Order: sequence, then C-alpha cells, then structure tokens
Amino acid sequence: MPAYDLYIPTDLPDALSYLDDYGETTSVIARGTDLLPRIRRRQFPAVNLLDISGLEKELRYIRNEDGFFRVGALTRVADLLETPLLGKELELIREAGRKFGDPQIRNMATVGGNVCSASSSEDLIPVFLALDARVKLSSAKGDRSIHMKDFILGKRTVSRKNGEILSQVEFRSLPPNTGSGFEKMGRRNILIIALVNEALVLTMEDDRETIREARLALNRVAGRLPARASATEESLAGKRLIPETISAAQGTLARELALKTDFRASGDYRLEIAKVYLKRLLELCAFRIRGGN
Ligand SMILES: Cc1cc2nc3c(=O)[nH]c(=O)nc-3n(C[C@H](O)[C@H](O)[C@H](O)COP(=O)(O)OP(=O)(O)OC[C@H]3O[C@@H](n4cnc5c(N)ncnc54)[C@H](O)[C@@H]3O)c2cc1C
Repeated sequence: MPAYDLYIPTDLPDALSYLDDYGETTSVIARGTDLLPRIRRRQFPAVNLLDISGLEKELRYIRNEDGFFRVGALTRVADLLETPLLGKELELIREAGRKFGDPQIRNMATVGGNVCSASSSEDLIPVFLALDARVKLSSAKGDRSIHMKDFILGKRTVSRKNGEILSQVEFRSLPPNTGSGFEKMGRRNILIIALVNEALVLTMEDDRETIREARLALNRVAGRLPARASATEESLAGKRLIPETISAAQGTLARELALKTDFRASGDYRLEIAKVYLKRLLELCAFRIRGGN
C-alpha cells in the first residue's frame, strides 16, 4: 500500500479550513470502503488524505423537518435501514439498503461516500435521482446546494470543488398517492455489483389509476452515466396505468438507454432487465399506493 499523509480534523470547520489550504492535493476519505481498495490497487493519485470519519456528531443524522428529509454525509447505509423516520412511501431507500453489499459493508458505507464515488454501479445515486434530491457542499467560504443530477457529471466525476466536502443530501417529503421501489440485478445474491439498478418514484392522481408523475432513474442511462430516464417519464405522465401504457413506456426506455457491453454483461441483456424492472416497479408502486405492502 502506498504511503499517504493523513489529516484527522477535530471538527467540520477544521476539516474545511484544511481543505481550503490543501484541497488541490487532498482527497477526502470517509469510511474508505471504496477508496482504500482503489488506493491498494494504486488507482489513486492523491498525496494527502483528510479523514472525516470522526465528524459523526456533525455529519451523521437523518432528519425530517420543514417538509424535507435531510441525510448527513456520514450516515451509514445501515442507519437508513434502521431509522423509523422514513415512511412506507420511501420503501425504495430500504430496498436499496437491503441489496447493498453485506451487513459488514452496510455498517461502514456512508451516503456521502456512495454519492461521491459516482461509479456506474453505486446504488444510492439512482435512488436520490428519483427522489429529485439536492446535495449540500460545504467549504470554508460557505455552503452551496445543487441538484443531484447536476452533481454527477460522469463515471467517477462529480461537480465538487477542491475545497468542498459533501455535507448533506436533501429531498422533499413525497406527496399523497406516492409509492416507490428499487430493483437491482447482479450475478449473485449478496455483495452484488449492479449490472442494472433502477429506482422509481410514482405519484398517482386521486383515482389511483392515472399517473401524475413518474421519476425513473437508472445507473446507466447514457453510456455509464447514472441519470433520470426523462423521455420514459414523460411517456408515462397523464396516462392510465394499463398494460398498453407499460409496454409503450418499455419501448421508450429501450430507445432512451445506451447500455454498454462489458465483461459483466452485454448491453442487450441489460436492456431486457431494465424493461422487466420498469414493468415490475410500476406495478409494485401502484400496488403500494393502493395500500399493499
Ligand atoms: C465488498 C464491497 C461491497 C460493496 N457493495 C456495494 C453495493 O452493494 N452498492 C454500492 O452502491 N456500493 C457498494 N460498495 C462501494 C462502497 O462501499 C460505497 O460506495 C460506499 O457508500 C462508500 O462510502 P465510504 O464512506 O466507504 O466512502 P470512501 O471510500 O471513504 O470514499 C469514496 C469516495 O467518495 C469521496 N468522499 C467520501 N465522502 C465524501 C464527502 N463527504 N465529501 C466529499 N467526498 C467524499 C472520497 O474522496 C472517495 O473518492 C461496496 C464496496 C465493497 C468493498
């Protein structure tokens, strides 16, 4: 393992002040479940590491306040599974959490680390995209907030400046008649690297037959970029949820996705899975809205 200089801040202002001085040559490390294997494989060029894992008092929380859910960057995947704050309409978060790694990884992996890793298989990114989340970036100069869709720029590329730490993910509480779900396909049942992951937040009109809004996100919409499938979303809005609507949406999804072939699976196979998941998620969300579990 290569040698790195490590700075352990006493609190968040100390961390931000360190990044202000040394941000250009520093990488943030949270729990290291993504970064340490990359460092060991010598895929990581940084010269300093800023270890923020001790800042849990400031950055590990889940809050439901003023119509928003706010999740601190050091919140762990296991915390998302344990909190009583996330209601039934947010089932997609629990589903992503249950399919995430194994118990050991869930107890370590942080929300901020997952979002900042921005690889095409991270599971919380489609979840937060479907929830229309914003991320808060903190620096010594203050905070700024941007949409998750603008934060993820490409594989392992995010819109974070050198002096910034991702401090929080925030999304609005969901309206009535909303259900959600998450699906993930890998090559085994635990410790799955997603071939496809797909998250849906569905809101229906009061008749619970007509779709008001569908927010659909996948880990690979255009090439390797996790994003919302906006053409498919538009094709669903205002339609009755009947088999014809679902198969038309599957056709739109097929035209919208650009799924690549790699050593894990072919693009064609991934597309078939994405279409099956769309149908499954639409039916599951409608079932949940109508009172099922
Ligand atoms: C065995 C195994 C199984 C896994 N299974 C899954 C899985 O099922 N699903 C999945 O999505 N991922 C999985 N992962 C990947 C990894 O666990 C997650 O991405 C995790 O959420 C990363 O969190 P972390 O705190 O360990 O991040 P770290 O490894 O500490 O950091 C990851 C990246 O984010 C940056 N970073 C971290 N926190 C911040 C912050 N607050 N502000 C700015 N930058 C930050 C770091 O600089 C680094 O580039 C797995 C990893 C392993 C080793």
